[in-house]
Amino acid sequence: MIDFPSLTTIAVVGLSDKPQRASYHVAEYLKGQGYRIIPVNPAVSEVLGEKSYPDLASIPADIEIDVVDVFRRSEDVLPIAQQAIARGAKVLWLQESVVNEEAARLAESAGLTVVMDRCMLKEYQAWLKAEPKDIYDVLIIGAGPAGLTAGLYAARAGLRTAMFEAIMPGGQASSTELIENYPGFEEPISGPELMMRFLSQAQRFGAELINEEVKQADLKGHLKRIVTNEGVRYGRAVIIAGGAKARPLGVKGEEEFHGRGVSYCATCDGAFFYGRKVIVAGGGNSAVEEAIFLTKFATEVTIVHRRDQLRATKVLQERAFANPKIRFVWDTVIEEIAGGQNVEKVLLKNIKTGEGSEIPCDGVFVFVGHDPAIGYLKSQLELTAEGYIKVDSSLATNIPGVFACGDVRQTPLRQVATAVGDGAIGAIAVEKYLASRH
Ligand SMILES: Cc1cc2nc3c(=O)[nH]c(=O)nc-3n(C[C@H](O)[C@H](O)[C@H](O)COP(=O)(O)OP(=O)(O)OC[C@H]3O[C@@H](n4cnc5c(N)ncnc54)[C@H](O)[C@@H]3O)c2cc1C
Repeated sequence: MIDFPSLTTIAVVGLSDKPQRASYHVAEYLKGQGYRIIPVNPAVSEVLGEKSYPDLASIPADIEIDVVDVFRRSEDVLPIAQQAIARGAKVLWLQESVVNEEAARLAESAGLTVVMDRCMLKEYQAWLKAEPKDIYDVLIIGAGPAGLTAGLYAARAGLRTAMFEAIMPGGQASSTELIENYPGFEEPISGPELMMRFLSQAQRFGAELINEEVKQADLKGHLKRIVTNEGVRYGRAVIIAGGAKARPLGVKGEEEFHGRGVSYCATCDGAFFYGRKVIVAGGGNSAVEEAIFLTKFATEVTIVHRRDQLRATKVLQERAFANPKIRFVWDTVIEEIAGGQNVEKVLLKNIKTGEGSEIPCDGVFVFVGHDPAIGYLKSQLELTAEGYIKVDSSLATNIPGVFACGDVRQTPLRQVATAVGDGAIGAIAVEKYLASRH
């Protein structure tokens, strides 16, 4: 069985420039399905807007050929099979009435899949009908600010668009109580409310929300295959907007007490700590913002930071220093979170003196950074040293038709406003990419 989605480029040997010829009709159809067609015909210079080459060997070496589709007489196939092998093609496809057993044996022994005496157009259509397939113009992985904006722009451009979301639309922005730096809102707006507005706007233009977790993504082919916990969808393009997940401290007791005092989201869990004492691990913007937020509930919030100064912006620092409920423990790391049924204390170590200490507490909030959500991609994409997806200025990754937006990509700033800008750029880049293939 040919895995049609995994194929991208088809060299059509004997492709005529006359629309009434079968080769033209087949190639035109396959191009319409998103395949890249490379005409091979010494008698013409261009077919279907693509430069024609006299033979397979003349096609530039940087063009990776997946299929060699042959519209020639059976007795002419052997040298074409030899060239297909030399070019590293995956499939040798001999159209209806083209039969050459010797060429087929040779190609098969070189590891190629051979299809003989069959029409590629008919077989592709049979594959499409064999099981119902949901084919979208663009599939967006993640419905945070980046994915929702990409969804809005793509759907508004008339593209069939779906956004996958594993947990809750809005992503990290939905887990923050108030956002006061998103332009257009003079007064702070609640994260969940802002994100619900993003969602309904994208849906109004026809973007579909699919509440499923993407488990696998096969991105190389002309049709990208996205496998979720519930099913399979295909997309002619993919935008990866899975954002980032809170990084754990990685200390003893953290996993054991997760949900029993250990939390990564103050908005979600802060209210459980009314009248109690909590620890905040970290010293960046998120840690300080959330520590201030936690003072609404907790009687005391202790920020434990491994350095002797905060990394948060000045305005946040000033607010934290002025807050009588917040105290600081500098140059210190949490070594263990301990307790009985729930968290009861943290064990600390001063990294300058090596001195150990402990603080009794009811909760530990961890804000020490984020890791990009890319586990399901299984090293298909080029990443930075820090593990973020590498992109160019149009947010294209190293795989054609695959774009990355928001916190998941290399970027100097991870905020709602930057994720929104990315979503718009990514969607328009998809529109251009799809237009260039048809
Ligand atoms: C506590 C906190 C406070 C913040 N405060 C502010 C602020 O005040 N102002 C500001 O501008 N920014 C703030 N930020 C940062 C801002 O929220 C992020 O920069 C922004 O949400 C990034 O958007 P994103 O769409 O790239 O990713 P995310 O918001 O991370 O969204 C990604 C989405 O993709 C989903 N996803 C991931 N993998 C999969 C998968 N395999 N299948 C399906 N779905 C998947 C996730 O569930 C998530 O919903 C805050 C962040 C945090 C954590």
